[in-house]
Amino acid sequence: MKTNAKLETKQQGSLLTRFLDAGDAAALVRNVGVQQAIVQVAGCVRDDFLRWQEFEKSARLASHSTVGVIELMPVSDGKRFAYKYVNGHPGNAKFALPTVMACGMLADVQTGFPLLLADLTLATALRTAATSALAAQAMARPGARTMALIGNGAQAEFQSLAFHALAGIGTVRAFDIDPSATERLARNLEKVPGLEIVPVRSVRDALAGAEIVTTVTADKTRATILTPDMVQPGMHLNAVGGDCPGKTELHVDILRNARIVVEYAPQSRIEGEIQQWPEAPVSELWQVLSGAAPGRTRADEVTVFDSVGFALEDYSALRWLHAAAGARDAGRFVALVAMPPDPRDLYGWMMASDARVMAGQAREAAESV
Ligand code: NAD
Repeated sequence: MKTNAKLETKQQGSLLTRFLDAGDAAALVRNVGVQQAIVQVAGCVRDDFLRWQEFEKSARLASHSTVGVIELMPVSDGKRFAYKYVNGHPGNAKFALPTVMACGMLADVQTGFPLLLADLTLATALRTAATSALAAQAMARPGARTMALIGNGAQAEFQSLAFHALAGIGTVRAFDIDPSATERLARNLEKVPGLEIVPVRSVRDALAGAEIVTTVTADKTRATILTPDMVQPGMHLNAVGGDCPGKTELHVDILRNARIVVEYAPQSRIEGEIQQWPEAPVSELWQVLSGAAPGRTRADEVTVFDSVGFALEDYSALRWLHAAAGARDAGRFVALVAMPPDPRDLYGWMMASDARVMAGQAREAAESV
């Protein structure tokens, strides 16, 4: 009988990497169900944050330009290595391109073999929303039912569904400077049972009655989407859109009067809302999820999850994608890396006119393991 370890060896021995293009990833998530996928990804994120000490971590490598940023996000637990390539270009709409586009890889540490290459644009939205909702479970006041959602772009449906599925939100008061974005959000989610999207005309209107406020706007500037006078005692703020130097959403005085939780402090001090207050006292999410630090200490405390997106969340998303794709035979296998039958004879393999056939033979041999 084939064990899981043997099957994985077979995948490596067969020279093949599972490849999920954007359409494959979308079909997979539809097949699982979007809310179910978010819940499952949240489970992976929670499990991985609870193994925090096992991971080799670093702040992401960022290449900034005047219009955006391109980043590489690596992480490893000694068994699997993951990285994501991701951009953030708030002006991309004028080229009919998304603000955020991503792809990434999951690899086996023992051999370095790439197990999965996948679109991560959708997975980024799933894992960002899942992580936001996990933070809110630990930080928002119990019984929260209403969320204000400022910024109704690509992330908005996923944030709404995550807070509905995982944090008990039944009403989302949605505002965007572009009313058509809010209309799209309301239309896309109109059939979700128990979730009502209420389009409103201003940030203040969105905040009326909201226990949770999610800001997920895109603008490469020091924006002040929320000012201190708008924030009520006990609110939980899920600040998602400010995620690189010079790009923030909250007035700094909100931070000075709040309990702040970040993903990975060395990265968040450069990229998060707390870039405005570098010495801000913070807890990391793993501490809050493990109970080592409180998410909230008083009912009237203002809490802020200062999210920028950390590589570990993408590791979680990649391992979820790998498992879900394996269970449903999604995507396809590709010979991503050269694999000569004689591993040292790369040149000879290249020169052989039947290099593809040789790869195929090696694959067949491996598949008979
Ligand atoms: P998007 O471009 O699809 O949507 C952004 C929306 O914000 C647009 O509809 C725009 O009209 C709106 N907006 C801009 N300024 C606004 C303002 N002042 N008030 C209200 N609405 C405003 O982008 P997206 O993919 O939804 O991403 C949103 C932001 O979240 C980006 O800045 C992105 O970098 C960030 N992000 C963060 C994480 C994370 O892990 N923290 C993950 C993904 C995206």
